[in-house]
Amino acid sequence: MGNFKSVYPYTQETIAEYAAHTNEQIEGLLAKGHTTYRQLGQIPLQQRCDWMLKAAALLKEQVTEHATIITREMGKTLKEAKAEVLKCAASAEYYAQNIAAMLQPKPLNSDASKSYALYQPKGIILAIMPWNFPYWQVFRFALPNLLAGNTGLLKHASNVSGCALAIEKLFLQAGFPEGAFQAVLVNSKDIEPIIADDRVQGVTLTGSTPAGMSVAQLAGKYIKKSVLELGGSDPFVVLKDADLEAAAAVAVKARMQNAGQSCIAAKRWIVESTVAEEFTHKVTGILQKMQQGDPFAESTEMGPMARPDLAEGLAKQLQQTIQQGGKLLTGGQYEGCNFAPTLLTNVQAHMTAFEEETFGPLAAIIIAKDEQQAITLANHPTFGLGAALWSKDLEKAARLATQIESGNVYINDMVHSDARLPFGGIKQSGYGRELAAEGTHEFLNIKTVYIK
Ligand code: NDP
Repeated sequence: MGNFKSVYPYTQETIAEYAAHTNEQIEGLLAKGHTTYRQLGQIPLQQRCDWMLKAAALLKEQVTEHATIITREMGKTLKEAKAEVLKCAASAEYYAQNIAAMLQPKPLNSDASKSYALYQPKGIILAIMPWNFPYWQVFRFALPNLLAGNTGLLKHASNVSGCALAIEKLFLQAGFPEGAFQAVLVNSKDIEPIIADDRVQGVTLTGSTPAGMSVAQLAGKYIKKSVLELGGSDPFVVLKDADLEAAAAVAVKARMQNAGQSCIAAKRWIVESTVAEEFTHKVTGILQKMQQGDPFAESTEMGPMARPDLAEGLAKQLQQTIQQGGKLLTGGQYEGCNFAPTLLTNVQAHMTAFEEETFGPLAAIIIAKDEQQAITLANHPTFGLGAALWSKDLEKAARLATQIESGNVYINDMVHSDARLPFGGIKQSGYGRELAAEGTHEFLNIKTVYIK
């Protein structure tokens, strides 16, 4: 088993190295996680909520420390990293206040004198998580599960081990018992024995479609519940009656935040032809003014991408699309991890920037002749995570939302995750839901009780 390296993307400096856990250490983590799962369910829910509120308070107190770890390991701006940490804190508070209602037994009507469903924990849940939101992706799995009495075992992306260990420490400091939340430092290729282990009762993965396919196969092989939150090529549909000023500003934010590395980024801007020129002019102006550079500088709006191989991959997708007839309007250049905010127009359904997920600061404009064609183009053959739809006619927008093939539709806003709303995709964007009551119930035993 090899070592994990954390590299500061902006300078490519190696900042830390971590040894992978040995098989004996992994056995220790599984044993501890299982013992703690047996105990956690016996602890009153209010106590677990108090620990969660303490975790929220610690995140707020230590926001700069945690945000610095994020920025150093994956390059997002410190401002973005702080916002991510504070979102985790606010969501911890939300769950602490709402979990009791989500876990209430559900009365059921049947021929019994009484029947109901209980929501009970099942054991260790393995979370395989990505580097792009290295705190938020972890917290949105951990918050409901720890509160409901499952224990968490985190296999984080290999470039963000520092984040994994800092989150483990935070839950301990907040009062959760040892074993409630543990980080396992393990290579992807060595994950099978962990998924196979009887003490592990479910696996949740956020990441690429190939990673999802591999983990779903293992989950199937060992009959483990799985939730997959995979890639997307989300449409951002601008109809001719949209508020163009607002749509342009939000489109740029929705694509470029986190240096474009978000599953729900607005990757395909589908614009009705009569407003295409004006929209293009507006977004180009905003993109050309974007400040890119040192992620710790206050004025920086976009930091580097997380790894040079990701920037190289994006550059290839850009070149392919240009060869296929896409037109470069601004940006296109990159050095190391620093990729300029880039805009392509004249993109069509057979081109790479349409067909594939582009995971970086590259936006593609696709022109639709009318509203119906815009919806047809929005419905991607492979992906279906989120979609944004812009129109001042809310009734029409709500009607069109029913025709969009995706897990989320946001009207006159960018797609975003929110602890109060279920989140997830369809098609190759994955299955299952995170967040809200739907996400909370994914890894619980929904036990029917029937009293004759
Ligand atoms: P991956 O999907 O490879 O990594 C995400 C997580 O999955 C990491 O923890 C990784 O671990 C793990 N993983 C990968 N393959 C396997 C496997 N076969 N079995 C078990 N675990 C696995 O993302 P990359 O970092 O390689 O990024 C590549 C592309 O993935 C991006 O360009 C983007 O398109 C997509 N992506 C999508 C994300 C999303 O939010 N939907 C997030 C991140 C990436 P390890 O790091 O050790 O390999």
